[in-house]
Amino acid sequence: MKREFAVIGLGRFGGSICEELSLEGMNVLAIDSSEQKINEFKNIASHAVIADATDESVLKDLGINNIDHVIVAIGENIQASILTTVILTDLGIKKITVKAQNDYHEKILKRIGADHVVHPERDMGRRLAHSLISSNILDYLELSEDHSMVEVKAGKNLVGKTLIELDIRANYGCNVVAIRRGKQMNVSPSAEDKLREDDVLVVIGADKDIYKFEKNLVI
Ligand code: ATP
Repeated sequence: MKREFAVIGLGRFGGSICEELSLEGMNVLAIDSSEQKINEFKNIASHAVIADATDESVLKDLGINNIDHVIVAIGENIQASILTTVILTDLGIKKITVKAQNDYHEKILKRIGADHVVHPERDMGRRLAHSLISSNILDYLELSEDHSMVEVKAGKNLVGKTLIELDIRANYGCNVVAIRRGKQMNVSPSAEDKLREDDVLVVIGADKDIYKFEKNLVI
């Protein structure tokens, strides 16, 4: 079944969400106050409409109430982003995802009822910083304010050891939840298997524990 989405604001972030959802066959209502943006997206989204999202009656006329998930990707204009989010929460939209420009903006969005606040520039910066610590850190994902997941290539400290020997949970407080070996993802890795050079460990834990793990074990 096709799901209904609306993307408000078609900058680089909103535009790429709109494109990907459309490519995946989803119904997407694209809204932007700029005519030029709407012309760009009229052949991509199911519907593309020039509108000011801070006008409640306009959003109602567009049938926004019938949409499952609305993504607010207005960046620079924080006031418009907040006002749009308030209107959407008042209208009882089931799921609202909003792009935040800074931490203060994020705090306000959460307080006024945004279900999910994303901070793409900051998150990308954090991911890049973690991958710069060691070439063995392949990816980093923030799970909550103080928990993360990292993908780590078994470096020289890990190769040839078993999970029992490493005892990552006892020593670092984080958990190896999966091991990727070639194309196979093993979500219940054997504690007695010796790790190989190209194995990738998926580790979840509190940020402070992940930091300790990265600092001491990932070379
Ligand atoms: P990105 O980094 O994703 O490119 P940005 O964070 O710089 O974007 P802006 O370019 O300021 O964000 O805004 C994204 C889009 O939102 C723009 O295309 C702009 O026309 C649109 N927009 C801004 N205000 C409104 C509004 N009130 N109603 C509808 N669209 C709006």
